[in-house]
Amino acid sequence: MSGDFLALAQPGVQKLSPYVPGKPVDELARELGIDPARIIKLASNENPSGPGPNVLKALNDALAELTRYPDGNGFELKQRLSQACGVNAEQVTLGNGSNDILEIVARAYLAPGLNAVFSEHAFAIYPIVTQAVGARAHVAKARNWGHDLPAMLALIDSHTRVVFIANPNNPTGTWFGADALADFLAQVPKNVLVVLDEAYIEYAEGTDLPDGLDFLNDYPNLLVSRTFSKAYGLASLRVGYALSSPVVADVLNRVRQPFNVNSLALAAACAALDDTDYVAQSRRSNASGMQQMEAGLRRIGLGWIPSRANFIAVDLGQEAAPVYEALLREGVIVRPVGGYGMPNHLRVSIGLPAENKRFLEALSKVLGRG
Ligand SMILES: *Cc1c(COP(=O)(O)O)cnc(C)c1O
Repeated sequence: MSGDFLALAQPGVQKLSPYVPGKPVDELARELGIDPARIIKLASNENPSGPGPNVLKALNDALAELTRYPDGNGFELKQRLSQACGVNAEQVTLGNGSNDILEIVARAYLAPGLNAVFSEHAFAIYPIVTQAVGARAHVAKARNWGHDLPAMLALIDSHTRVVFIANPNNPTGTWFGADALADFLAQVPKNVLVVLDEAYIEYAEGTDLPDGLDFLNDYPNLLVSRTFSKAYGLASLRVGYALSSPVVADVLNRVRQPFNVNSLALAAACAALDDTDYVAQSRRSNASGMQQMEAGLRRIGLGWIPSRANFIAVDLGQEAAPVYEALLREGVIVRPVGGYGMPNHLRVSIGLPAENKRFLEALSKVLGRG
């Protein structure tokens, strides 16, 4: 008789569902039997502009060293980040994407008998990393699709070690302001680590979104997590980072894999930091793409959740799954978010103007409003 290796998995893992990524272009091209060039993907909040020129050159230069292990301490990137963010290098932890940071936090601070607090409709990785280490998830009800920070505070108990908050949140695009964050941090017990996930912060510069770094000095229990996957356009290379107190960084450093960020990723991230024009251009292009998207949705007669990120959650007012499928047949990949408790919404990344136009036309067609 063989063992039941599902039943043998720890209980938190048995209850997990695997993360569902956006459908790859090549996969849909195979299924439809069409040229991948005819497909647009607005499903994973990637930067539609492709990587900047500095990055490609840095990657090319780094290729010669592929036989070597990467710098396990990420010395140069940490130096650059500490300058860019105005913190000490000992406050920086590098991750294989910021998902890695979230997982390292869970492995370092959570365990059976402990819990993490996060919001309904929050980023899918929070329950995964929490349950994977046998800890419990305390999920606060959302308010107007966004984080209800007072409700999250109320769920903190003596077994809570971590609170995950995303600003703006994915998949809703919702955000909270500096006052709400200040009130929240002032009330969270000092022995609870607040993980402020700012994956989209670069898109919100110059708006009413707070910069988590402004609070780091006052709150040693704050960790700000950021990524090169979104505005910096390096999703495939997997680089993210955390900014925290040196003590928390030291703890995370004990748990992370020694070579969690590869040499190409390190080189590209350093080059991307120099490319400030690229990020500014991406921000402008996203802002005008967001306007284009909102105007188009208004014409079609659909609602949406206002967003400060590079995507928008569209309210179809009906089951979204069949609309998602119909869009696929039009060669348009977006993201269904039923798994986030949002069965009537589709999350659509802001693309280039022609991609946004194509999405809006396809949506209007499949809804019979064209
Ligand atoms: C995309 C995203 C991340 C970043 O993922 P990476 O692992 O850095 O690619 C983190 N948090 C949220 C909320 C996201 O949407």
